[in-house]
Amino acid sequence: MSRLSALRGGKLVLASHNPGKLREFRALLAPLSVALVGADELGLPEPEESGSSFADNARIKALAAARASGLPALADDSGLAVAGLGGAPGIHSARWAGPEKDFTAAMRRLREELSDRSGGFEAADRRAAFVCALCLAWPDGEVREFEGRVEGEIVWPPRGEGGFGYDPVFVPEGEERTFAEMTAAEKAALSHRARAVAALLAAARADSPPS
Ligand code: IMP
Repeated sequence: MSRLSALRGGKLVLASHNPGKLREFRALLAPLSVALVGADELGLPEPEESGSSFADNARIKALAAARASGLPALADDSGLAVAGLGGAPGIHSARWAGPEKDFTAAMRRLREELSDRSGGFEAADRRAAFVCALCLAWPDGEVREFEGRVEGEIVWPPRGEGGFGYDPVFVPEGEERTFAEMTAAEKAALSHRARAVAALLAAARADSPPS
């Protein structure tokens, strides 16, 4: 039996201090039958996200939590990558909103930088993707990594009241509405986080011995 399928029935640390994320991952990981414990509950410190990719940062957080707790740990790192900005804001997606978490300002910056680089917003390469890197780590340093992406495009002006972050300016491929115009369930069915978790669950199923 692999280490992935051996998680079933045990404790797994979520390397995040965000209660919303803990709730979301508890629901998404239900098929794995693990007891998901938040980093807060264990008093774990938040490591500096010093990597240069989503995967780097997820690995840094998962390994730090696994080593500090002595338990397997899961971390995610996500953001928006825009083609016409060479992949920005990328790992700096949260930082663009500043300490006040002002995403109205972050979305305006996105539009301005796209326009400035291409001589107008309409002329810019507005293709974009939300990306979620997931890393499962064990205290001895073993890691398993997964990625989920949803492709789409940046629109202006922002539309919709739902979701968070850059949702009002992102229309997923094949859709006409922004993420912020969808219900939570509609977004969850398409989202980069759900896709990354689906990849993890598929690997756990593939690793399980036939019953
Ligand atoms: P983190 O992975 O929780 O640190 O998220 C990084 C940042 O990426 C968030 O603060 C948002 O700016 C952005 N982001 C990640 N996922 C989404 C999403 O589903 N919708 C909108 N923005 C997102």
